[in-house]
Amino acid sequence: MNYEAPRKAMVEEQLLRRGIKNERLLRAFSKVERHRFVSRDLMSNAYLDFPLSIGEGQTISQPYIVALMTEYLELTGNEKVLEIGTGSGYQTAILAELAKEVCSIERLSGLAAKAENLLKEMGYTNIKIKVGDGASGWPQQAPFDRIIITAAALQVPFALREQLKETGKIIAPLGEAFNQVLTLIEKKEGRFESTDICGCVFVPLISKSPEE
Ligand code: SAM
Repeated sequence: MNYEAPRKAMVEEQLLRRGIKNERLLRAFSKVERHRFVSRDLMSNAYLDFPLSIGEGQTISQPYIVALMTEYLELTGNEKVLEIGTGSGYQTAILAELAKEVCSIERLSGLAAKAENLLKEMGYTNIKIKVGDGASGWPQQAPFDRIIITAAALQVPFALREQLKETGKIIAPLGEAFNQVLTLIEKKEGRFESTDICGCVFVPLISKSPEE
């Protein structure tokens, strides 16, 4: 099956029509083959307007939410980005199209290995993936210009705030199971400013680190 037409329709109907305007971002969504990040039986649904299962009880987020989160990061191509929750690797690929370097952490080794193989096969050379608890961040790779958390926590873990550069941004779903708010956090002169964006539903961030 040729997925170009459904991918074009996804960009026009789900992203452009809902107000996603950044041209680099729209180009990345037009380029990255989302169907390759799901199992064969779900490929025909890959460009539809909802999340899909990627196994192990996890999901690949709805295209619009991936676009919205990425848009708030305001990537210009020079940034080092930390992603918590690699999942299928789709969001990782979008970030790799738009930033200089992406470091991504996934707690489930099966998902991490699958995503790593696929992203290599697709030719990305600016992505590093590690298996672990993303709540501790990646101190050896820090500091980061941007951090994106793709699983919900009550608060942004302390280590991640510590590993963010001055003037950096974090985008994260914050809150309990059915009451989460997509939140933008900006670091300015050592202080963190939060802006609520919209309600959302994400799988939980599973961590041994205490919430601070
Ligand atoms: N962005 C992904 C994509 O495009 O496919 C979807 C991510 S999925 C909504 C959330 C992911 O976060 C899951 O794969 C889950 O295993 C992972 N996760 C949950 N808690 C984590 C933690 N503490 N550290 C790293 N990954 C975690």
